[in-house]
Amino acid sequence: MDCIFCKIVSGNIPARKIEETQKSLAFLDAFPLTKGHTLVIPKTHYAKIQEMTKEDSSDLFELAKTITNKLESLFPASLIAIHNGKESGQEVPHVHIHLIPRNSSDKAGPVHSLFTSRPKFTDMELDEIVNTLRNTK
Ligand code: 5GP
Ligand code: ZN
Repeated sequence: MDCIFCKIVSGNIPARKIEETQKSLAFLDAFPLTKGHTLVIPKTHYAKIQEMTKEDSSDLFELAKTITNKLESLFPASLIAIHNGKESGQEVPHVHIHLIPRNSSDKAGPVHSLFTSRPKFTDMELDEIVNTLRNTK
C-alpha cells in the first residue's frame, strides 16, 4: 500500500522517532505547526478510528498520553486532534493523533475558531439528532 505512515513504520522513509510500543509509534510532524508537534500512529494501517481493534486504540491512546506528558513538561498545554476522514481535512489516510503544543499567546484560538459560520438549531432539530444518534447502531 502506498501510505507514507506505513513506510515510516517499516523504516522505508525516515522520521524523527520519539518513542514506540509494539503497536504504536510517535514521531515529529515533518511540517510542524508549533515546536514539538508530534504524530502518534498505530503501526497497523487503519484509515479511521472506528476500524481499530480495542487493543490498538488503547495502546495508541496510552502512547499519546505518555508523549503529551513529555511535551507538557516543556510546553504549557496541547491541542490533541484527529482528523477522521478526507472530508474533515485528513490528508494522510492512516489514523494519527496530532499532539500540538500550545501556549496562551499562539493566537490559534479555541476549537470554535476552526469554523467561520455557526449554525443555529431549534430544540426540535436537536431532539431529532440526539434521537437519531441514540437509535443508530
Ligand atoms: P492530517 O492533515 O492528515 O491530519 O495530518 C497529516 C500530517 O502529516 C500533517 O501535519 C503533515 O505535516 C504530516 N506529514 C505529511 N507527510 C509527512 C512525512 O513524510 N513525515 C512526517 N513526519 N510527517 C508528515
Ligand atoms: Zn498506512
